[in-house]
Amino acid sequence: MDFHCHLDLYPGARDVYREAAQRNEFTWLVTTSPKAFAATSRALPASPSVLISPGLHPEIAHERAAELDLLLEQMTGVKAVGEVGLDGSPRFRTHYKVQRRIFRAVIARSAELGGRTLSIHSRRAVKDVLADLDAHPGYGTAVLHWFSGNQAELRAAQDRGCWFSIGPAMFDSENGRRLASAMPHNRVVPESDGPFATVGGKPVMPWSAPETAKRLAEVWNLPAGEVAGLLARNGASLRVSMEI
Ligand SMILES: [Zn+2]
Repeated sequence: MDFHCHLDLYPGARDVYREAAQRNEFTWLVTTSPKAFAATSRALPASPSVLISPGLHPEIAHERAAELDLLLEQMTGVKAVGEVGLDGSPRFRTHYKVQRRIFRAVIARSAELGGRTLSIHSRRAVKDVLADLDAHPGYGTAVLHWFSGNQAELRAAQDRGCWFSIGPAMFDSENGRRLASAMPHNRVVPESDGPFATVGGKPVMPWSAPETAKRLAEVWNLPAGEVAGLLARNGASLRVSMEI
């Protein structure tokens, strides 16, 4: 399983797609723009185990703001949305206003449509992400991907019932390991975030869930097999909210 993957952006995407469809019970392919969603849905063959969702990545929000209406329209026909969110890091803070306008519109639209499952980017912006979710209680289900806030923000997200998708790269930092160790066991699912996320200089692949289970088992102090089973059950329960 992989609950956050930019499968369309790997070199040799078709081969990676074929292998993921074969090896994974489920792969959530999050796109970075509405036009990319349309193109990827056309280019890749349909597979019952790969879910392709429309998104608008906060890092390119300022370049793709004109596509917001298209995204809001695409959201009608899908249960899952992503990648969306906010990025308050120095490099992207300049365009924070436009990011926020887009994210708020997506959350409002999710509520209006009766709820959607969202893969959310929240780097240096957890507080605002949670505030925007709070403003529309019927938005659905939030999956915070590669969470990198502090412990208080983790608890705030947990209190709101957020899910967390995490991958092997998260364990490369001390803060990542500390956050993973404190996450609620019944709200964690595996992700790769490949090809952006890398471990040892190589992109993390969509079939990296066993590695995530192994690393989680270390910080949770549980047998790896038990954690793998837990992630599988969590994934199955999260997927209920994503099926059409
Ligand atoms: Zn991503």
